[in-house]
Amino acid sequence: MASILILAEHLGGTLNPATARCVTAAHQIGGDIDILVLAADPAAVATDAAAIEGVRKVLTVARAENQHALAAVYAPQVVAAVQAGGYSHLLAPSTTFGKDVLPRAAALLGVAQVSDISAVDGAHSFKRPIYAGNAIISVEAPADQVLVGTVRTASYAAASSGANAAPVEALALDVALPTHTRFVDLHQGRSDRPDLQSAARVVSGGRALGSADNFAIIHALADKLGAAVGASRAAVDAGYVPNELQVGQTGKIIAPELYMAIGISGAIQHLTGIKDAGTIVAINKDAEAPIFEIADYGLVGDLFKLVPELTAAL
Ligand SMILES: Cc1cc2nc3c(=O)[nH]c(=O)nc-3n(C[C@H](O)[C@H](O)[C@H](O)COP(=O)(O)OP(=O)(O)OC[C@H]3O[C@@H](n4cnc5c(N)ncnc54)[C@H](O)[C@@H]3O)c2cc1C
Repeated sequence: MASILILAEHLGGTLNPATARCVTAAHQIGGDIDILVLAADPAAVATDAAAIEGVRKVLTVARAENQHALAAVYAPQVVAAVQAGGYSHLLAPSTTFGKDVLPRAAALLGVAQVSDISAVDGAHSFKRPIYAGNAIISVEAPADQVLVGTVRTASYAAASSGANAAPVEALALDVALPTHTRFVDLHQGRSDRPDLQSAARVVSGGRALGSADNFAIIHALADKLGAAVGASRAAVDAGYVPNELQVGQTGKIIAPELYMAIGISGAIQHLTGIKDAGTIVAINKDAEAPIFEIADYGLVGDLFKLVPELTAAL
C-alpha cells in the first residue's frame, strides 16, 4: 500500500489551499496520507493541515532556517523526512513553490519527477498535459522508486477541512543545510481582491484594454462580482497589469467556477490556463475570435460599452 508524504505550501502562517488539492490527488492514489510542514514556527499551519479530511498525521520540522521557503534549504529536509518515514510517494502542488522545491528533492533521491499530474490511473501511472495542454500523456513511473510528483491543482478540488484532527508530530531530522542560498527579500503584490489562483470567480482583461488606466473597468466589474483580476500575456507585456496576474501556459493555471475573458482573443497559450474553469464568459468585438469556441456565454461588442453596462446592471 502507498504511503504518501505531501509537502505543505504556506506563507505567513497560513496554509495554501493548494495543499488540500494535493490531498485529493493523494486519495486517488490510495494509502496513508501525511503532511510535512517545514517552518520556523509550524504550529498554526500544522493545525490547519491536521484538519484536512483523510490526513493520517502531520509532521513538523521547526528550524529558524525554515523561516522562508528556500528550495535549497527545504529539499534536503524533505528527502530526510521521506527516507525516515519510508514513504513511497512525495507530492507537492504544481505551483511556483512546488515547482521550485520538488525537482531538487527528486534529484537528491536520484529519481525522475512526474510533473503536473492531472489524473491518477494507478499508484505509479498518471496523466499529465503536454504541448501547452494540447495533448495528454500517460506516464508510467518505476514502482521500485520513490514517486516524486507535482499535482496540477486546477485538476483537483480541495479535500474538505474541519472534521479531522490528525495528530501532529515534531520530527527531529539530523540534516546539514546548505548556506549558499539565502533569503534576501519578498516582493509581493498587495491586493484586497481574492487570490487569482484560488478565486471562485476571475475577470480577465486583454490587449484590447489599451492601457493601465482603462483596466479600471475590469477592476470595477471584478469588485462587483467579488472576483480576482487576471490578464492575458499581451496585457501583461504591455504593462497594463503586473505579471503575477497573467493567466495561461506561462502564467497561472486556474480553475475558477466563473471565468470572464474580456478583450482576449483566446490564443491556445491563454486557454491552457483556463481549461478546467467552470463557466466561461467572453466579451469580444470580433464574432470570429477563437475564445467564442470555448465560451459558454459570449457577448459580441465593444467592451468599453458592454463592461460598464454589465457592472451597472450587477
Ligand atoms: C511560448 C508562449 C507562451 C505564451 N504564454 C501565454 C500565457 O501564459 N498567457 C497568455 O495570455 N498568452 C500567452 N502567450 C501569448 C498568446 O499567444 C497571445 O499572444 C496572447 O494571449 C494574446 O493576448 P490577447 O488575447 O490579450 O491579445 P490579442 O490576441 O491581440 O486579442 C485582443 C482581442 O481583443 C479584441 N478587441 C479589441 N478591441 C476590442 C474592444 N474594444 N472590445 C472588445 N473586444 C476587443 C480583439 O477582437 C481580439 O480578439 C504565449 C505565447 C507563446 C509563444
